[in-house]
Amino acid sequence: METLPDGIDLAARVIADSKYVVAMTGAGMSVESGIPPFRGTNGLWTKYGTPSMDGYRQFRADPEAYWDRQINAQIDEHILELREALRNAKPHPGHFALVELVNLGHIKSVITQNIDGLDLKAGMGDQLIEIHGNRSRLRCIGCSKRTDLNDFVPLFMPDPCDECGQPVKFDAVMFGEPIVPEVMAAAREEIHRADCVVAIGTSATVRPASGLLWVARHRSKGERSNGSAAVEDAKLIEINPSPTKLSSICDVVIRATAGDGVPALVRALRTITAPAVN
Ligand SMILES: [Zn+2]
Repeated sequence: METLPDGIDLAARVIADSKYVVAMTGAGMSVESGIPPFRGTNGLWTKYGTPSMDGYRQFRADPEAYWDRQINAQIDEHILELREALRNAKPHPGHFALVELVNLGHIKSVITQNIDGLDLKAGMGDQLIEIHGNRSRLRCIGCSKRTDLNDFVPLFMPDPCDECGQPVKFDAVMFGEPIVPEVMAAAREEIHRADCVVAIGTSATVRPASGLLWVARHRSKGERSNGSAAVEDAKLIEINPSPTKLSSICDVVIRATAGDGVPALVRALRTITAPAVN
């Protein structure tokens, strides 16, 4: 008999009793696929130092020079290490289990802060909101038209947008770059609809994604100040091997990696929702 991590049965019950469950995933999900995080003990910034935080301004100032540096690998060591890790990364059981939760209807949408596209590789459909973009795509900074690069290493400088003529960059959001308004709006809408949010592998420290979790937790206050009908705060479930800033406000905390915790959640939900046998 396998042992489920503590909290799994309670989390499954909360999810089964909720009407609209949204998941939010963070760097912890990618770490298990071999993609190093920026922050923390084994983070790229801890290893190589904090990079310049004005990447987007530099791109805007001279897109051609930016692409030249990318193509010739004249870029920060931490980015070189990251793009190699992205190229080699494959989805782990947590990604596949999350797709299963969506396909079974337990989770309505997934907001990810990750840029690795692993949720899509695991089979996620348009229920996925990649709030920080996807590093294997390109995006026009004018009209946000996206095209697939199908890789993490560019061989040529992309042409300006064929719709509006503006420069094209990676879809992944750079430092100093605003999140694409339609993407942010879609994420906010999902959070407002949610009566339960499952935070997986996120330290809940990076804005604006982390702010969405607080919005979910305290949505009754927001609704009342808008003068609209009273609603209850969304239930929060955390799946993370380490305590986070979020832990103390969560209804259920599961101390497990995504690779262990999410498949365990699928199994627990199967038990609860299985038809009774007479
Ligand atoms: Zn465009």
